[in-house]
Amino acid sequence: MCELLKKFPRCSLGYFPTPLKELTRLSSLLGGPRIFIKRDDLNGLAFGGNKVRKLEFLCGHALSVQCDTLVTAGAIQSNHCRLTAAAAAYLGLECHLLLGGYEAKTDSMNGNLLLDKLLDAKIHWMGSHRKGEDMDIVYEELKRKGKKPYIIPYGGSNKIGALGYACGMFEIMAQLKFSGIPIDAIIFASSSGGTQTGLIVGAALTNYSGRLIGIRIDKSGHIGIPFVKHIENVVHETAEYCCNGGGGKCGPFPKIELAENYLGSGYGVLGDLERDAIRLLAEKEAIFLDPVYTGRAMGGLIDLIKRGEFTKNQNVLFIHTGGLPALFPYAKELLP
Ligand SMILES: *Cc1c(COP(=O)(O)O)cnc(C)c1O
Repeated sequence: MCELLKKFPRCSLGYFPTPLKELTRLSSLLGGPRIFIKRDDLNGLAFGGNKVRKLEFLCGHALSVQCDTLVTAGAIQSNHCRLTAAAAAYLGLECHLLLGGYEAKTDSMNGNLLLDKLLDAKIHWMGSHRKGEDMDIVYEELKRKGKKPYIIPYGGSNKIGALGYACGMFEIMAQLKFSGIPIDAIIFASSSGGTQTGLIVGAALTNYSGRLIGIRIDKSGHIGIPFVKHIENVVHETAEYCCNGGGGKCGPFPKIELAENYLGSGYGVLGDLERDAIRLLAEKEAIFLDPVYTGRAMGGLIDLIKRGEFTKNQNVLFIHTGGLPALFPYAKELLP
């Protein structure tokens, strides 16, 4: 890890570095660029996923300001919420989750929601508000009860959470250097933007000169400004946060690239793009993708390859950001 990032409080929650390997069968099947995969689905904590990297810094910060309760929000099958609940359990903290939807019946007690319950998270049902619109209310309530709550924003995607993938970029660059593979593009699912933000800042810090292509998963209308603008703002906040005072130079930043034409029928709606990608990766590589994020992102990457976005002698790296518990509640859609 780079010196610049060592000054931030951090909790060890996952196992790093995660494996990075080539998808040889998929690469030859598509006949395009060599495709590599970074297995952040295997980072250990409670079925793993990209939120573990963010939570190491977010929880580090929460503990450094003596908080005893984590509060966050997401959809019913939120991976971010499941991993926040897991981090809380691991660190001995209380956890409150504001989930979209209404009190679930036992038969929908599946996937991430089941895990949230097993992890003993306190669940607040928020109806149509699945992006933390009411976190201040719960925060005040907890304070009145004598708790010291810490709000983790939707997706963990602020300047603190973004440090996770700034660090992740150092890990990736070290692995690529070790194996002597030059990478031309890194592709990943982008939803609340913290992963993309962190990778962009990490790219500047490591002098990565390839492309960073986020496959957009969600329309994210809640932020009120265009998503690219939002990422740009958090990139600058994060860069200032980690480089200022440390004497570090940050930037120039790689271009913010977002593939926006794979939104299908909306967030969490499984279509042919996702289903085909999930089945292909299972059949050819014995790797499971999830229905909401990585299935869509891999479907997007396959489409980009088929459209000739990369040349045959280029190398691309797909980041597996996790999400696997959500496979099970989608059983019917996956095998119609
Ligand atoms: C949250 C999530 C993403 C998106 O990451 P952001 O930082 O929110 O853009 C991608 N994949 C999975 C499995 C996730 O849970």
